[in-house]
Amino acid sequence: MYTLPEKIAAVSEVFSKLDQEIAKFQSVSGMDCFFGCGLCCTKPDIEASILEFLPLAQQHYDEDNAESMYELLQQDGLDPVCVNFKKHSTHQDRGLCTQYTNRGLICRLFGYSARIDKYGNNELVTCARIKNESPKAYKKGAKHVSDGGEVPVMSHYYRQLQAIDFELANQRLPINQAMLEALKIVMAYQAYR
Ligand code: SF4
Repeated sequence: MYTLPEKIAAVSEVFSKLDQEIAKFQSVSGMDCFFGCGLCCTKPDIEASILEFLPLAQQHYDEDNAESMYELLQQDGLDPVCVNFKKHSTHQDRGLCTQYTNRGLICRLFGYSARIDKYGNNELVTCARIKNESPKAYKKGAKHVSDGGEVPVMSHYYRQLQAIDFELANQRLPINQAMLEALKIVMAYQAYR
């Protein structure tokens, strides 16, 4: 049974292993996000688990931002797009993540991971923009994956989170709500220490 600080450390460790695996895959395939794109973050229906946002919640607490984030995330009528996404001033469909270091698992996996198809083979999942605007890199990445090359596999990472805390990893909520619930857990823990 993990304590909360141990859970946060374990999630961060999973993230750092994933980041290394993604970096390897990017260097093999040549696939990369376009600077300032952020298209994947503009989807209003991104779902995430509470567990994957515990490191960010702890960061907010450590930086004395927990209360203000809590207020923001509780607001009625809050835009369903992730609160961490900062839109570009002129291109509203572009922008940057303001919490890149402690972003969630879904944010890390998108673009550079594989799902397992019905035949048990890995199949590359990436965004339409990389597919259409970097077709050479995309084809190279897809071939690497279909040839059995190393790639982060989504379900493997979800299982690693489930092993840390099954309930907090399994329940999927709209991304802002997942962040709010993670914040509540960290704030309650700190209040009763
Ligand atoms: S946390 Fe960052 S990367 Fe994830 S959806 Fe929000 S803005 Fe995008």
